[in-house]
Amino acid sequence: MFKKVLIANRGEIAVRIIRACKEMGIKTVAIFSDIDRKALHVRLADEAYPVGPAPAPQSYLNMDKIIEVAKGSKAEAVHPGYGFLAENYEFVKRVESAGLIFIGPPAEAVKLLGDKVAARKTMKNSGVPIVPGTEVEIKSEDQALSTAEEIGLPILIKAVGGGGGKGMRIVKEKAELKSALRAASSEAESAFADPRIYIEKYLQKPRHVEIQILADKFGNVIHLGERECSIQRRHQKVIEESPSPVVDEKMRKAMGEAAITAAKASSYVNAGTIEFLVDSDRNFYFLESNTRLQVEHPVTEMVTGIDIAKEQIRIAGGMKLNHRQEEIEWRGSAIECRIYAEDPENSFLPSTGVVHSYWEPSGPGIRVDSGLYEGVEVSLYYDPLIAKLLAWGKDRDEAIQRMKRALSEYHISGVATTIPFHLRMMKNPNFQRGEIHTHFIEEEFEREKPSEAKEKDELLQAMAVFSALLDYREKTKSKPVLFSSKNKSKENVWKIAGRKMGLRRLMM
Ligand code: ADP
Repeated sequence: MFKKVLIANRGEIAVRIIRACKEMGIKTVAIFSDIDRKALHVRLADEAYPVGPAPAPQSYLNMDKIIEVAKGSKAEAVHPGYGFLAENYEFVKRVESAGLIFIGPPAEAVKLLGDKVAARKTMKNSGVPIVPGTEVEIKSEDQALSTAEEIGLPILIKAVGGGGGKGMRIVKEKAELKSALRAASSEAESAFADPRIYIEKYLQKPRHVEIQILADKFGNVIHLGERECSIQRRHQKVIEESPSPVVDEKMRKAMGEAAITAAKASSYVNAGTIEFLVDSDRNFYFLESNTRLQVEHPVTEMVTGIDIAKEQIRIAGGMKLNHRQEEIEWRGSAIECRIYAEDPENSFLPSTGVVHSYWEPSGPGIRVDSGLYEGVEVSLYYDPLIAKLLAWGKDRDEAIQRMKRALSEYHISGVATTIPFHLRMMKNPNFQRGEIHTHFIEEEFEREKPSEAKEKDELLQAMAVFSALLDYREKTKSKPVLFSSKNKSKENVWKIAGRKMGLRRLMM
């Protein structure tokens, strides 16, 4: 096994990987940009080296510098985390040609699956059902028109090199086609430096259900079941869970087998995710593959007990899979809420600042993956995902109740976060019934907004008290006033809370 691994990432995922390495007795090398000098991943790693200024292209995307640090620190392998260089074919090649091991799939699999048209073609040829559409890029309006006529409107124009929900355009009427083609292509060009586009049938209110796979270098491939990721904003996941409320044993087996076929068809090695869309009749269609550790991998870890980050490192180190398919068991239910530094009351605008007080929830069934501590700065330079809160329960109801409890305990001040939004979500009756789809947030939240006012007030008041207590304790270094027997008047606390300026920002 490796003696030293460089983690080419930052934030919660760098921390996650450092933890896996530590448990395996592997030394860790962190990299950091100028503004991340005091970041948690830097503090936790055995060694840490600067790689450039704050903007990602000059630091976390700076391949030359990262490889130089890896070589200089005598790391044997590079873990890319997710985002940044994780699915960059060029980076994988360069890591390999520098004599280092990339903790992820081979460069060829990254290339094949990163090209959505090539991936669709490969899947179709191996019998994996794909969303109806083209397996070639669209080069003309006529070609787009005949495709639209063949599969029927609405259609979705998508970027061949797509990711992060960018470069997609829905076309409902033929008249919109021309401008949508142009808009999708130019968005794809600016986001991925690749203007190529293709077309899929636009499925109405599907579910997004994905399968986690593990594949070793000896041709063994297993799946770890599904994650339901239908709660999305702008095609980006917000809440994930496992198991999916619609997947039963038979469907899990069928989807798992399709995912294993997909992995074998692309000569896949390491941990990967095969994403599917599921229609209202529970038919599933291949959507895309993600050739890396997913943000939402911990929900699978919680229900299977398998540490996916450690498995990735073992596989890259040339070891055989630790588990056979028939040994995989799923226990209970796990939910993940992505905590973004965004203001849900203000169109989810990114929020920045210094986290000046911070309390993490804990207790039965709770896991927090974050890069946060008191004094850390949240900047606009990087992804606004600042923490992941996970709850496990013996069943979905218990997981939801625990999540609610943990969300109400979670205190992050200094930046606005999506915690209040998640609380609303956990209380939503349709969410509780598992009746969800990819447009759930748009539909439910527009409807919920007016009646949410009272609930929001209650939340504001509760958090105001909490916040006032924290401040009071900081100033007096004494016990929180509400818990003191001398506290005769709760009113004082409410007054303090009311006077607190900037509280609204804190709450939302
Ligand atoms: P990206 O790689 O940009 O994340 P994906 O292909 O993974 O794009 O799709 C992201 C999300 O967009 C899906 O989870 C789903 O909500 C929506 N989506 C993508 N393709 C379709 C489709 N054909 N019909 C309906 N929704 C889709």
